[in-house]
Amino acid sequence: MSAPPIPVASPTTITSTSVRSTSTSAAGVSAVSTKIGRRHLERAAVVYVRQSTLAQVREHAESTARQYALAEQAVALGWDPRDVAVIDADLGVSGRSTEGRDGFRALVSRVCLGEVGAIFGLEISRLARSSADLSRLLELARLTDTLLIDGDGVYDLTDFNDRLLLGLKGTMSEAELHLLAGRLQGAKRAAAARGELRTPLPVGYVYDDSDRQAGPVIDPDEEVAAAVTDVFTAFAATGSAYQVVAAFAGRRFPLRAYGGAWAGQLRWGRLTHARVLGILNNPCYAGAYVFGRHACRRTVRPDGSIHSGIAVLPMDQWPVLIRDHHPGYLSWEDYLANQAKLAANRTHSGARPAREGHALCQGIIGCGSCGRPMSTRYHRDGTGAYECHSRKDQQATPTCRSVSSRAVDEIVAERLLAALTPDEVALAFAAADEVTDRRARAGRAAELAVERARYDADRAERAFSAAEPENRLVVRTLEARWETRLAALAEAETALQALHNAAPPLPARADLQALTGDLPRLWHAATTTARDRKRLLRTLIADITLLPETDRAKVRVGIRWHTGATDEITADRPLPPGPAARTPTPSVELIRAHGPTTSNDDLVTILNKAGHRTGKGRPFDIDAVQWIRHVHKIPAPGPLAPGEVAVADAAQRLGISADAVYYWIKAGHLPARRGPGNRLAIPWTADTEAACRIRIASSGHLNRTSQAATAGEAV
Ligand SMILES: [Zn+2]
Repeated sequence: MSAPPIPVASPTTITSTSVRSTSTSAAGVSAVSTKIGRRHLERAAVVYVRQSTLAQVREHAESTARQYALAEQAVALGWDPRDVAVIDADLGVSGRSTEGRDGFRALVSRVCLGEVGAIFGLEISRLARSSADLSRLLELARLTDTLLIDGDGVYDLTDFNDRLLLGLKGTMSEAELHLLAGRLQGAKRAAAARGELRTPLPVGYVYDDSDRQAGPVIDPDEEVAAAVTDVFTAFAATGSAYQVVAAFAGRRFPLRAYGGAWAGQLRWGRLTHARVLGILNNPCYAGAYVFGRHACRRTVRPDGSIHSGIAVLPMDQWPVLIRDHHPGYLSWEDYLANQAKLAANRTHSGARPAREGHALCQGIIGCGSCGRPMSTRYHRDGTGAYECHSRKDQQATPTCRSVSSRAVDEIVAERLLAALTPDEVALAFAAADEVTDRRARAGRAAELAVERARYDADRAERAFSAAEPENRLVVRTLEARWETRLAALAEAETALQALHNAAPPLPARADLQALTGDLPRLWHAATTTARDRKRLLRTLIADITLLPETDRAKVRVGIRWHTGATDEITADRPLPPGPAARTPTPSVELIRAHGPTTSNDDLVTILNKAGHRTGKGRPFDIDAVQWIRHVHKIPAPGPLAPGEVAVADAAQRLGISADAVYYWIKAGHLPARRGPGNRLAIPWTADTEAACRIRIASSGHLNRTSQAATAGEAV
C-alpha cells in the first residue's frame, strides 16, 4: 500500500489569491483545485453555523463571526455569491442529537436532493456531536458527491482516505468530549461530595463574597429573609401551598436570577404556587447541602426521536446529602414534616386532604356496600351530604346510598370527644410508649442480625481469597459458601428495611398532650375552623365507613381508629329539614301524647288553645299536625268507633264481595257513616248481620260468587 496522499490543504492555502488561480500548478492549490470541480461549483455551497448553547452564542461571538466568514470563503473558492446559503437555525441548540435541530435536518435533506456542492463548517468533525448523525451525513455526502470544507481543508467523501480521516477525526472529537466531560464531572462530583461545590442558591441565601470557601449564608437583605421565613410560617399555619399563595396576595416576593442578562440581580414579583412548592421542597432551606436532586431522563419516543427531561429523584437516591451544612430557615424535622403534608395534599395521586367545608368526614368516609370512597356535596341551604361515588358511574349496589353529613358527623364527633378524656389519653400515652419500645427492640434485633450476616460474609470472602486458586475443589466450596453468606446478608438487610418501612409514624407526644386540655370547648369554639376540626379528627381516626343498613330510618357507621381498633354505631337518621325539624319539642310531645287517640281536627284545637306555635311562629293547622305525625311516626287514631267494622271486614264476615257491601250502603240497605280520612264505618250488631244473611239467602247471584269474591281486598 503506497503512502496516502496528503488530502488536506493547510488553512492558509484557502485564500482568495490561491483560489483565483485554481488553474495554476502550485502544489498546495492543486490539491484544492483537483477536489473542487465544475460539478460542485454548479451546485450550492451551504455554510452551517452552530453554537451549542445560548451562552456560547452570547459569549463566543468571535467563533460565530468566524463561522459566518465561511460564506466569504465559499465565494473566494469560486461559488457564485447567489449560490451560497447560510443555515444558522441551530444557534443555541445542542448538537447531541438531531432532536430539535431544524437546521441540521434541513442540511441533510438538501444534501439528499443533490442540491449541495459543498458544506462549509468551522470543524466538520463537530457538525454533529453524535457520531451516528455525523456518519449519516458523511454517507449521504459520499452518495451525492458533496464536498465538506473546513478550516483544515477540503474532503472529498468519494475518496477513501478522506473518508477515513473524517471518520477518525469524528471519533477523536467524541473521545475528547468524553474525556473532558469525565474530568470536569469528576472534579465537580468530588467537590460536591465535600459540600464545597457552589451551586446556584435559592432566593433567601447568598454566598459570602469575602470568603470563597464558605457555604451559603442567609440573605442580609432583611426583606428577602422575612419573605422566605413567612412562606414557612404561612405553610405551618395553613398546611397548604395554595393557602400560602393566598396569604401572599398583594405582597411582593423576591427572585434572584442566575445566568442571563439578569444574573445576580434581585427582582420582585408575585409568589406563585409553583414557587411555593419549589421553596417547600428545597432541602437547602433546612440547612442541608444536596447534590444530584434532579437527574436527566432520556426516553425514546415511538417515532424514534429522543426526548430528554428532568426528573426529581426520591431522597434515598440523592448522591450527596449533608445535613447542618449551613444555617437553615427551618429544621430538618420540619422539612420532612412539610414533605409529608405536601404528599397528603396531592389530590391527583389520590390524597383527600381536609377541605374548608363543614362536613367533618370529608375525605375519609367510604361506602361500606361497594367499597368506594364517598364524595361530599353541599346543598344550597348549606347542609352537606356524603354520596357514594358509584352512583355517578351507575355502578351502585342496592345498599349504596347518600346520607346527610349531619347524621354521621354527630356520631363521629361524639365518639372522638369521648375518646379524648384525660384518662383515655393517659392510656394512649402508655400504649404509645409500649409500641415505641417494642419497635426499638425489634429494630435493634434486626440491626444485630445484619451485623452478624455482614461479619459472616466478610469471613467467607477472606477465606475464599486466601485459598490457593490451584486447589479447585476447595475454592469451589469456599466460593459457594461465600455466595450463601452474601444471600443471607441481603436477606437480613431487606428485613431491616422492611421493619423501617412498616412503622407508621406515631403522632408526636407534644401534639397529643396539647389536645388533652379543654377539648370539647376547643372543638365547639367559633374560632376553630372546619379544617382544624378535620385535622384533629384525622390525627386519631383513620377512616369512616357507612355500613349497609336495611332500615332506612337508621344509619350504621363504622369508625377505624389509627390504633387499629374499630367501632360500630347505629343511630337514627336526623329528621328531614322543614317544619317538623323546626317545631319546638313541647308541641311534638303533646302531639305524641294525644295523637294516637285524637283526630287531627281536635289536635289543632288543643294545640292552639294551649298557645303552641309551629317552628315558624304560626298557629297549627291540619297540614302542620299531619306533617309532624308523618315525620315523627305518630299514628292517627283508628277510623272506627267501638262496635263498628270496616267494609272489608263486613264483606269477610258475610262471605261476600266488598262491592256488594258498597252497593248495599249506597242503596240504603246497610247503615254506615264516614269516619276520619273519609273511610266508611258500619255499626255492627247481631241484628245487622242476621238481616244481611237473609238478604244473601234470597239472592242466587250473591250465593254463586261469594266464594271467589271474599279473597279480594276491596278497600
Ligand atoms: Zn357504594
